[in-house]
Amino acid sequence: MGTESTLKAARDAAPGLVVLGWDAATWDLLSPWVADGKLPNLARMMESGSYGPIRSTALPVSPAAWSTIITGQNPARHGVFDWFARKAGSYDVEYVHTGQIKARPVWEYFNAAGKRIGVFNLPMLYPAVPLDGFMLSGLAAPEASSSGFAYPRGLAVELTENVGPFWHAETEVYRYGRERAYLQNVLDLLEYQKRVVDYLIQKHPCEVYLLVFMQADHMQHKFWRYLDSTYPGYDPEYDAQFSEAILQVFQALDDHLGDLRARFGEDTNFVLLSDHGGGPVHGIMYINRWLHEIGMLHLRSNPSTRLKFWVAKTDLIGKAYRAVSRLGLGKIANLVSKPARDKVLNSFMSFDDIDWARTKAYARGAFGQIYVNLKGREPGGIVSPGEEYDQVVDQLMAALEKLPHPETGEPLITDIHKKADVFDGPYIEGAADIIFSIQDYLYQSSVKMGLDSEGILGKSEYEDSGGHRPDGIVVMSGPGIGKGVSITGAGIADILPTVLALAGVPVPDDLDGRPLMEAFTDAQRGSVRFVSGESGALPDTATPELDSDELAEIEDRLRSLGYLG
Ligand SMILES: [Zn+2]
Repeated sequence: MGTESTLKAARDAAPGLVVLGWDAATWDLLSPWVADGKLPNLARMMESGSYGPIRSTALPVSPAAWSTIITGQNPARHGVFDWFARKAGSYDVEYVHTGQIKARPVWEYFNAAGKRIGVFNLPMLYPAVPLDGFMLSGLAAPEASSSGFAYPRGLAVELTENVGPFWHAETEVYRYGRERAYLQNVLDLLEYQKRVVDYLIQKHPCEVYLLVFMQADHMQHKFWRYLDSTYPGYDPEYDAQFSEAILQVFQALDDHLGDLRARFGEDTNFVLLSDHGGGPVHGIMYINRWLHEIGMLHLRSNPSTRLKFWVAKTDLIGKAYRAVSRLGLGKIANLVSKPARDKVLNSFMSFDDIDWARTKAYARGAFGQIYVNLKGREPGGIVSPGEEYDQVVDQLMAALEKLPHPETGEPLITDIHKKADVFDGPYIEGAADIIFSIQDYLYQSSVKMGLDSEGILGKSEYEDSGGHRPDGIVVMSGPGIGKGVSITGAGIADILPTVLALAGVPVPDDLDGRPLMEAFTDAQRGSVRFVSGESGALPDTATPELDSDELAEIEDRLRSLGYLG
């Protein structure tokens, strides 16, 4: 028996592991559907295993959350906070990519332990990196034809040849009134991706799979309004037609879960999770407009900015657009379509129009994220680190706390934190200085000034009626998992140590997360090994445990190859 087959035997002895991600899945939707018998495969997995809610990163943004899932570290220790990262010494940003993840990722742990891992469709992974197994990039990747899309490098071409033309993102754009085309496109992509995963499992088998599906997130962003009779402008008759669209997509995901569990059988541990939850969204807050109103952000006074400010403030374009619509000049109204109008307004007030020499704070990102214009960090920073920085942060936090919802008078801002309260690690400078949610995530935020809006709240962008919530789902089943344990207090940083422990790989004791051992069987719990020290270092014990005969065989083999003296 040669080394290769010895190693293979060692790999086969350990139960396999499938980690399945349903981006944005929430118990708020799934629990009632499970109770009604609409998701039978999820129900069976829950019955045979353990489950509960799982808390996302302090900013429940997919790239930050998935980076925490694959590293077991909070964003200040892996460096990914959002879809973008600030460029050092600039107000510009660069979009998320694999190189921004600065903590040891899951595939390195498994590969070091001699286990191949197949990584599919994580949204922030591009380019795909060399590993023992396979990796396919996700949402943030450019075209699949780009050389870094997959590892092995020819994999996207191989999939095109064997499964059909490769695609990894919806090609239809959601529009209210054109729901069917988008829904069909989402389902088509899911069908295609199921066949891709099927092919990969057959032709590129691994001991561990990490497979992510984005469909639930995309559907919830666009189709939540059909479930939400309080959504502004809800039309009971029309909207009722699509009240089951999100369920339909979850049923397709549920079928896939059933297929995978049937295919891998009883010996495989399954972890199903989401990176964050989901919920309704009723609009956006123009945080930069609010900062402008309270004198924390100033606009340049050059003629072009002044003209843009005046046009936006008087809503000149909006008035012209409405006048044209009123006159019934349909064709002209179409020429000045809503998207075109939005585009003009978007280009209006940009970061180029901010007078940095008089600006103490600005906002960026889809959640409550305010950055101080800090000397030495921002190129035009005016706030000194230390006492002045603390003063600006305290002043902003006090103002946010008092800010009322313009219509209801209720507090608009909830969950206000300094970054050091929610993040901890060497890359904390990449985080916003103040983090908050806007009416418990019922509003998202926009980087735009929003000067064309009536107030600091406006209509959702991209027709979003759903968004993220902090609590996602975790369900585990398989030979290492106990039955009927209700998982409580879990966070997504716990997933990496949990899956390492389930696969018999030693767990670094300095990760931010911990293995969810309360859900393990006694035998599994007893087998968990920890290694001390830096989670960044390769643990020596991270090799499969072999018996002495196998070790002797390996030694012979290596000697014969000249590796040993
Ligand atoms: Zn997500």
